[in-house]
Amino acid sequence: MLQQTQVKTVIPYYYKWIKQYPTIESVAHAHIDNLLKTWEGLGYYSRCRNFHEAAKIVNNDYGGMIPSDKKSFQSLPGVGDYMVGAVLSIAFDRPYCAIDGNHRRILYRLLGLKKRSKQNESRIANLLKAQIEIGCPGDINQALMDIGSEICKPKTASCNRCPLKNSCRAAKMVDPLSYPAPKIKKVIPTKEMAAVLITKNDNIYISKRSNNGLLGGLWELPNVQLNSNSGDHIEIKKKVHKTYGQHISVGKNLGKITHAFSHFKMNITLFGCVMAHSEQDNPNGKWIPYSALTDYAFSKANHKLFKLIDKENV
Ligand code: SF4
Repeated sequence: MLQQTQVKTVIPYYYKWIKQYPTIESVAHAHIDNLLKTWEGLGYYSRCRNFHEAAKIVNNDYGGMIPSDKKSFQSLPGVGDYMVGAVLSIAFDRPYCAIDGNHRRILYRLLGLKKRSKQNESRIANLLKAQIEIGCPGDINQALMDIGSEICKPKTASCNRCPLKNSCRAAKMVDPLSYPAPKIKKVIPTKEMAAVLITKNDNIYISKRSNNGLLGGLWELPNVQLNSNSGDHIEIKKKVHKTYGQHISVGKNLGKITHAFSHFKMNITLFGCVMAHSEQDNPNGKWIPYSALTDYAFSKANHKLFKLIDKENV
């Protein structure tokens, strides 16, 4: 849960999760749809899917005990270098480094390094490795996490109360915050999208995303990327038919929401639509009463769309 996500965001999700799934076995035996529902809103849903797969392997192949050797642990789905370092050092006292953004910033400042380069990455990794091999790897990794979140932050550095100040090169410079040099921000693209609220009798149509990729396994209102922001009804109609197999007539514009991921933004216009006829049975689609939406896991963008629907009282 903590990958790419702040502790304060994770805490309520963690408590909710651990109440419902207190053991590896309970995760292994759960249905992925139920796990995603508990994870709903936390983002990066591949973490949830990977954890489910990993829990099944741990349950079946390791008697429900997390393996403490690097090779076995690293072979579990979703486990990368950072997780190996964090879990094996903290839980099993094994001498592995966990280098995340906090560690990286502190180590660059300690060594007085500005340029982000492969060579400097090796230097900070070697420094941490040397410290960790002396002993207390879990404490060192955790201490750096705490210093990074409380003392040596990206935009403030409280050097006077930092336990590392005597050996820190950046602290002796005029501007410790300029270490390392800031990353050059990439301009991220914006996609124009249309989402459709298709109704038939008293039901609405939802579709499940494929398990792989962004928001994999989550449900959504059918949506298509447009060539422009004009909201061309013919384009929407054709694309919805091609993607979801539904012939629709496009109706009222119900409003627009914006949503941003780390690598792109979306402007999504929602249209009220009526199903003309369904040409093929989409195995990922489902008709449900609007009141049953809470039984399914949706992305944050879809929840913003639901607010538009509630506001319009459709
Ligand atoms: S002394 Fe200052 S710059 Fe150096 S690690 Fe501590 S807070 Fe960061």
